[in-house]
Amino acid sequence: MLYIVATPIGNLDDLSFRAKQILEKVDIVLAEDTRVTRKLLEFYNIKKEIIRFDEHADEEKLKLVENLLKEKNLAFVSDAGTPNISDPGFKLVKYFKENVEIIPIPGPSAITTLISVADIPMDKFLFLGFPPAKKKRKKFFEEVLNSKYPVVIYESNHRIKKTLKELQELEDFECIIGRELTKKFETISYGKISEIKIIEKGEFVLIIKR
Ligand code: SAM
Repeated sequence: MLYIVATPIGNLDDLSFRAKQILEKVDIVLAEDTRVTRKLLEFYNIKKEIIRFDEHADEEKLKLVENLLKEKNLAFVSDAGTPNISDPGFKLVKYFKENVEIIPIPGPSAITTLISVADIPMDKFLFLGFPPAKKKRKKFFEEVLNSKYPVVIYESNHRIKKTLKELQELEDFECIIGRELTKKFETISYGKISEIKIIEKGEFVLIIKR
């Protein structure tokens, strides 16, 4: 069996009870970043073999996993949150879905964490992930502007200022900005872009109201 397991987005206490049980039970953990996952497993006192499986995993890596799955149960975890949300995951599912039982173990995600404290209905929304670095950036922001629904995007500390500036040039959007969610320096801000003071440290999720 192959379990696709969601892990915390910062606060290690957020691992679900079921996720913990699965990580204890499987023979091997496939991880986007072995160091990050080692830390999580050590926190829960789980001793497990960890094999790297990231977005660059090639045919050879898939064959290795295929051989392991003949005799063993495996879990895949990404760096943080829910696999396949701006993270690796789909390659494994695509490759093994016909022959292996694949079981999702749900848990935290930066999207749902911020949505849960939105002050607007979020029964419909558009998730656009990270703004592209160069090409297609203009088109990305046009999609935000033209959306009928609130737009959720991800951004890193390196580019948050630039992204907010470019968004503001289109419109001084009302938004909700979640920074370092579930962590020690978590901040959640509501207001127009021009009103929100940004500390360029940590990880960000934005809900742009439409
Ligand atoms: N799979 C993850 C999920 O389910 O949220 C997302 C992985 S993506 C590579 C990483 C991005 O998610 C960060 O750059 C940031 O935009 C967002 N993110 C992850 N953890 C976060 C946190 N604790 N607070 C705010 N944003 C976070």
